[in-house]
Amino acid sequence: MSSRKSERVSASRPETEIRGETFYPGPSRTPLGAYPPRERWDDWVELDPQAWPRRVERHCMLVPTTCFNCESACGLLAYVDRETLEIRKFEGNPEHPGSRGRNCAKGPATLNQVKDPDRILHPLRRAGKRGENRWQRVSWDEALDDIAARVRKALVEERPNDVMYHVGRPGEDGYTERVLAAWGVDGHNSHTNICSSSGRAGYQLWMGYDRPSPDHANAELILLISAHLESGHYFNPHAQRVMDGKARGAKLVVMDVRLSNSATHADHWLAPWPGSEPAILLAIANWLIQEDRYDREFVRRFWNWQEYMEAERPSEPAAFEAFEKALKTLYGEYSFEFAERESGVSASVIREVAELVAAAGPRLSTHNWRSAAAGNLGGWQVSRTLFLLNALTGAIGVPGGVFPNAWNKFVPKPIHTPKHPPQWNELTWPQEYPLAMNEMSFLLPHLLKDGRGRLEVYFTRVYNPVWTNPDGLSWIEAITDESKIGLHVALTPTWSESAYFADYVLPVGLGSERHDLHSYETHDAQWIGFRQPVLKEARARLGQPVKDTREVNPGEVWEENELWIDLSWRIDPDGGLGIRGYFESKRQPGAKLTVDEYYGFIFENSVPGLPERAKAFGLTPLEYMRRYGAFEVARNVGAQHTAPVPEAELADVRRNRQGRVFAHSDKPAAANVVPVPSPDPDAEGRRPVGIDVDGEVVRGFPTPSGRLEFYSSTLKAWGWPEHALPGYIRSHVHPQSLGEGEVPLIPTFRLPVQIHTRSANSKWLDEIAHTNPLWIHPTHAARLGVATGDLVRVETRIGHFVVKAWVTEGIRPGVVACSHHMGRWKLDGPGQRQMMPTVSLSHEGSRWLLRRVRGVEPFVSADADSSRIWWSDAGVHQNLTFPVQPDPISGMHCWHQAVRVTRAPPEDRLGDVSVDTAKSREAYAQWLSLTRPAATHSPDGTRRPFWLLRPLKPAREVYKLPGARVRS
Ligand code: SF4
Repeated sequence: MSSRKSERVSASRPETEIRGETFYPGPSRTPLGAYPPRERWDDWVELDPQAWPRRVERHCMLVPTTCFNCESACGLLAYVDRETLEIRKFEGNPEHPGSRGRNCAKGPATLNQVKDPDRILHPLRRAGKRGENRWQRVSWDEALDDIAARVRKALVEERPNDVMYHVGRPGEDGYTERVLAAWGVDGHNSHTNICSSSGRAGYQLWMGYDRPSPDHANAELILLISAHLESGHYFNPHAQRVMDGKARGAKLVVMDVRLSNSATHADHWLAPWPGSEPAILLAIANWLIQEDRYDREFVRRFWNWQEYMEAERPSEPAAFEAFEKALKTLYGEYSFEFAERESGVSASVIREVAELVAAAGPRLSTHNWRSAAAGNLGGWQVSRTLFLLNALTGAIGVPGGVFPNAWNKFVPKPIHTPKHPPQWNELTWPQEYPLAMNEMSFLLPHLLKDGRGRLEVYFTRVYNPVWTNPDGLSWIEAITDESKIGLHVALTPTWSESAYFADYVLPVGLGSERHDLHSYETHDAQWIGFRQPVLKEARARLGQPVKDTREVNPGEVWEENELWIDLSWRIDPDGGLGIRGYFESKRQPGAKLTVDEYYGFIFENSVPGLPERAKAFGLTPLEYMRRYGAFEVARNVGAQHTAPVPEAELADVRRNRQGRVFAHSDKPAAANVVPVPSPDPDAEGRRPVGIDVDGEVVRGFPTPSGRLEFYSSTLKAWGWPEHALPGYIRSHVHPQSLGEGEVPLIPTFRLPVQIHTRSANSKWLDEIAHTNPLWIHPTHAARLGVATGDLVRVETRIGHFVVKAWVTEGIRPGVVACSHHMGRWKLDGPGQRQMMPTVSLSHEGSRWLLRRVRGVEPFVSADADSSRIWWSDAGVHQNLTFPVQPDPISGMHCWHQAVRVTRAPPEDRLGDVSVDTAKSREAYAQWLSLTRPAATHSPDGTRRPFWLLRPLKPAREVYKLPGARVRS
């Protein structure tokens, strides 16, 4: 069998006519009427709405960039007034293959952020004690010289682990990781373990790739766990393709404890007990297996069933028929009735869904990202059991099914590639969590309190750890302690609860004020999107080139690309540390690398098809990207696991017993747009290049076996044999784990028009959504004597918060829910006045109280709307009251909480938060005790399986765990 050939995009394709309809001549293939034709992007004329009823024409340049408000990175077009060079509005970019000219509300609201009267415009240094929220203006030079000197000192004194960069929304593919690699530090820290690690773990264990790229548009059944239609991962690009699929007749099944907007569009809405989703998925899988409704050939060819039989059933023949028999036994216990008992969803409904799954066959698109995976102990089994359905039905790498993310993502080679850092940082990768998908970021305060390390320079970048993480008051304790963190540098476009506790607050650019390059798995294609400072491009079109983004951004706002280059030169001014060379020009050796050269190099040399496409437009590749903002590298990438491995890669081949093919070849991957698997070599140094399927060597998957790993030898080898197969782990909020009067709280859901802590400076969004009441079912509310609007106290195991009740049938009885998007606050002093009430923050020993002093109020500013603010409530910051609850395998914080809900006593006020951080420490220790550390469970004396993905992967030699006992 051979793979479908991906279609490279031709340089001059005729695209305006499709089936007789006129379409926009770009990759969006949407009706032309919606978008200005690109020939007129230099001078587009619109009537000024503010001058109405006078008809005043405004001439605009349409300059592309990409939205920075969520991970989707949809294309935007900035409408820049030719006369005033003011950005008048943002709309969708029809040249963008992922978002196809469409945006959610948060995209156009970028304009609010640009014009936010409270934004940070200049570098600031703290004037009082850390956390006093008093500031003085400093120059960029002063700030960067100080920071660079401290980083340099740490490096020169061989304390590389004292430098850490903690990122919230990356919005780019690898730029900053390469900066850190150039510095030689293992200092990357991310937010992923409070976001998607468990979702990723389930996928990675199956296929070696950690994300799905579902082909919703061509599916017959779309099965979603969580609210993808209004707030899912790659939200707008996926949502529009879900709707395409529905328009073609696909059925939609949504599992969600809440009646989300997605659930309202579903043919079947299943509201299971939180954490019981795998029980339902396994019951469906079992039914497919028992009824022989699965794709036998797909399973036979691509699962690692032989490895399973040899390892776990050595007395039985390692034959496929024996495996099928075993499969029937393995899953026999997961009946529909069992699933009903666990989930509360009726067996007959689950059967109906199972029949839909079987009928869809390979046209089954599924997705789980945060939601149930992010909420529960063992949540990684949610995505592992969900993907089991795709693996059973052969719905992988086929139209209407699911593609691994890397097949639908294109990351070009950069101008310089620093080496893997020769360091291992135990503050981010502690040895208790050898299988963690990402850095154990949310444990940082506890690891610092344990005395496991110290930070000399701690960068938070578009990240708000105090607010976003659980247990934020432990963060405040750690972050204000200068013996633990020497210097905290907050790189942020807007005020945040963490910025108050910084030493420097450095204003970095919004989506229209910075460069970034990225690619995401929105559908079966590959594209790159280019974020750029739109006024730089506008000025260039007017013949006024700009050297430094501070010349065009508001105030002294700087983009990070230029900032990191500059800072790296200050750290290593003479190149003696071996850092500066990675930030030098190739064209002019010894000169500072410019952003134009950096991206120009990539677009000219590393993106197949782009130079030809640009040439057809009479542009250089960089000019093309500045003018159109995106490029479709390939479409219909298709199946890659079936791609034959070229003969040239098959020198000195060895096959292991299960058909994994290793070869001595210094040839890298074939000229293919998809990265090639790279797990461990064999004992003689041969590289795994593919798998033998019925005598043909095909690419397979980047897992140790090269196949889809139904059976995870990794989990078994690293001390978790009981979870080596897709299975069901009862959540920490399973009824049997709840105490008297406790119910599960679902705190994970997003609101479609807000984005974590970065949208408080968007007046349009704030007016639509500015509070987060507690969803509570009428039967539950009646028992408590609570009505909508009443104050309730929600008690967690370390404290409590006070919130308004919202009585609704849109939630499963016996479960409560509260969106995490609200509850912003500011200390007396600067902050976002549109959405941040002023609070007092006090403590006696470990007992903290946060109490609202003033609600949101109207205020006078250059924006007349700020005096029209009519809301005062801004919700409650519930995350402060959550203990850390790391899953012992994936490392993901298990967000759901066991809580007691009562009517608030008279002394309580809306927004109150009370926490005892001594209890936080106890919870940390309790969850830590669930782990199986590398020191005692590593099979080979390493800290972590080398084949698992890891951001900023360090050099192989530092994987060795000093003094580890190697198990036989
Ligand atoms: S989904 Fe909305 S917030 Fe996210 S990138 Fe697209 S427009 Fe921006």
